[in-house]
Amino acid sequence: MIRTASCDLRRGTAAANLLLAVSFAALAAGAIGCGGDGGRRRDGPLRVVATTGMVADAAARIGAERVRVVGLMGPGVDPHLYKASEGDVRRLQEADLVLYNGLHLEARMGEVLGHLGADRPTRDVASAVAPGDLRAVPGFSGAHDPHIWFDVRLWRDAVVAVGEALAAVDPAGAAEYRRNLDAYRAELDSLDAWVRARTATVPEPARVLATAHDAFGYFGRAYGLEVRALQGISTATEAGTRDVQDLAAYLAGRRVPAVFVESSVPPRTVEALQAAVRARGHEVSIGGSLYSDALGDPDGPAATYVGMVRANVTTIVEALGGAKEAP
Ligand SMILES: [Zn+2]
Repeated sequence: MIRTASCDLRRGTAAANLLLAVSFAALAAGAIGCGGDGGRRRDGPLRVVATTGMVADAAARIGAERVRVVGLMGPGVDPHLYKASEGDVRRLQEADLVLYNGLHLEARMGEVLGHLGADRPTRDVASAVAPGDLRAVPGFSGAHDPHIWFDVRLWRDAVVAVGEALAAVDPAGAAEYRRNLDAYRAELDSLDAWVRARTATVPEPARVLATAHDAFGYFGRAYGLEVRALQGISTATEAGTRDVQDLAAYLAGRRVPAVFVESSVPPRTVEALQAAVRARGHEVSIGGSLYSDALGDPDGPAATYVGMVRANVTTIVEALGGAKEAP
């Protein structure tokens, strides 16, 4: 998290939702903004650069016609390992606003984002989630799980940061951003209800989500699935043979029907897991590929955050023996 930046638009918004109406009014009146040359530099659409596809999508939805959004991390890109290219640094330096996830998801961009925050407006969306709602990372005191988008209600909180940041750099658009934000949050409410209803159809013994890296902790907590992963919160460490054998024993013992690969992680560890479960006399299928830390192809069903969630939930529910969705 970047705290030293003079233009960091983060304002400790643990109570962001309660303060939303107040802060938007203040922004519209020009009471809060970014000093120096960090504000908007020209007419035309606001130039917004976002790290992950999920954040870029929120910016496009809330900014609508007033913004042009560039997402740095395309389909299948792993944000834990991503390093900014020279072109990225140039785009970041020219941006009117830089949005990122935070909580060290973009672990290898920390320095770039830190330097940038000294004169460009930056905001991490995780800052709009109440600290009490964040999952601690076992063994890392003070660290929190960055995969907040997997609990749709938390993401509904996080996108408030996008609306606030847009209004701060473009106060003339504050009312429009507010309207778009409200509409988007209502859509996320419906999405959350849909996820809840779909996941509730998975039979009790099969309510285990086994994946390559530990991205789905918020999902499991929100929707009642036990989450087991071969790698930790970050993909930076490899799974060991022992991890594979331990998880294989658990899945075989519980006769879990499926495990899942992830779009932004090579499938080999999950394939090794499948073989290890099979060696214990239980056939576990690869239930499909989940979009974990990146959106899907721009022309596909997971091109947006809402599409990504729907695609993941459909894959998970059907592979674990839940109800097929009514046509
Ligand atoms: Zn991850």
